[in-house]
Amino acid sequence: MLVTCDKCGARFVLRPQVQYLANKVERNYFSCSECGEEYTTYYCNPAIKKLQEKLNQLRLKYDSQRLANPKQAERTYKKWLKDKEALGKAMHLLLMAVDGKK
Ligand SMILES: [Zn+2]
Repeated sequence: MLVTCDKCGARFVLRPQVQYLANKVERNYFSCSECGEEYTTYYCNPAIKKLQEKLNQLRLKYDSQRLANPKQAERTYKKWLKDKEALGKAMHLLLMAVDGKK
């Protein structure tokens, strides 16, 4: 994916990088190949990874239920929505916790 640097205006290929921080937090980011400006995409920790994994599994479950058992699929979808909201909140809280310390 080609992106444009907000700082220097250079166009470069986005290469995702990971930085390991304290408390098992992973910072996912990429940096400009011209000026080195770093852009954080998101933060991750074991709890968030677990939630992401759960969401993937619910998604697969939903796909397999969709045709065979639409009612059950509906319940799975509602669970997925709820977990997705929880994931969004967890990611936001982590972002605040990490970036707020700067
Ligand atoms: Zn740049």
